[in-house]
Amino acid sequence: MAMAATRSVMRAVRVFEFGGPEVLQLQSDVPIPDPKENQVLIKVHACGVNPVETYIRSGNYARKPALPYTPGSDVAGVIEGVGQRVAAFKKGDRVFTIGTISGGYADYAVAAANSVFPLSDELDFRQGAAIGIPYFTAYRALFQKGRAQAGESVLVQGASGGVGIAACQLARARGLTVLGTAGTEEGMKVVLRNGAHKVFNHREANYVDKIKEYTGAEGVDIIIEMLSNINLATDLQLLSRAGRVMVVGSRGPTEINPRDAMSKESSIIGVSLFLATEEERRECATALLDGVAAGWLRPVVGAEYPLEKAVEAHEDIIHSSGARGKMVLLP
Ligand code: NAP
Repeated sequence: MAMAATRSVMRAVRVFEFGGPEVLQLQSDVPIPDPKENQVLIKVHACGVNPVETYIRSGNYARKPALPYTPGSDVAGVIEGVGQRVAAFKKGDRVFTIGTISGGYADYAVAAANSVFPLSDELDFRQGAAIGIPYFTAYRALFQKGRAQAGESVLVQGASGGVGIAACQLARARGLTVLGTAGTEEGMKVVLRNGAHKVFNHREANYVDKIKEYTGAEGVDIIIEMLSNINLATDLQLLSRAGRVMVVGSRGPTEINPRDAMSKESSIIGVSLFLATEEERRECATALLDGVAAGWLRPVVGAEYPLEKAVEAHEDIIHSSGARGKMVLLP
């Protein structure tokens, strides 16, 4: 491979045992990985922090990496070197990823070339690190699983974070009427600036009544739900006839009244980006790159942390005081 990294070691966050945020250890003598034949080496400029990385780190998640490992799938940076069979990228290219092999909370990361996409000059690296999991998930929830159509209405429950803002931008661009929720004034403003026609505050006791009042008897056609364990039962009451709730996020069990689904022939549909086929991922990527080129896909970056504050980032993304965009780590 053509590699020009002069250093042979780098900083990387390593996890040697599953547990609380404190198991994230920043080490400064981790060997810079070598890209194999279909892989690229990226100098990481920013890495998105996703809630799933905290579930995996805790050890309470279905998929567990072999220890030790470095978290992080959504990096943006510059190609440093490429494997022998990689023709699509060359040293110096600006890129973002939807997955890494060696982990993104690091100075450098190796990724499979088919998980890497060109990063437009219109976006900075922090924005590039906000695309991967959030936008691919929002696209999958809305269109691949939710079959959203122009003219329908969507409620994004938890619109101020990574997936939520992506869902608002995507839905608005495809001609849906977009309602969103956030938990703070600042978050509500971000939601309105990013595609929502109307925003509600999910920390207000009567916000569901306000949504019902706004949508009237018709209800909403699709709900993109970030916190199903809290909202699923009321979501079923907000839906239109044949409406569907897309379960994107959930942090525990919940109780629903199945009659609410019967009376409207509505559906509860789970969403897992992990289950997307290669073809579905390509479809997402094409739509998203088109959105960047057309100018409506503009990731919003919220809290930023240096790599040495990965522990705080993991604490804060779960015990958030209010999202206002995507959380990123900056090496
Ligand atoms: P994030 O950036 O941390 O955002 C979390 C969002 O949830 C914020 O908008 C937050 O609003 C909102 N929220 C907080 N309390 C809420 C409530 N009571 N009702 C509705 N929303 C509430 O996280 P993210 O990256 O967008 O991910 C959101 C969820 O989707 C997470 O649970 C994540 O694990 C999951 N996810 C699933 C998949 C999949 O494949 N199924 C993929 C990606 C993400 P405020 O902060 O303004 O209160």
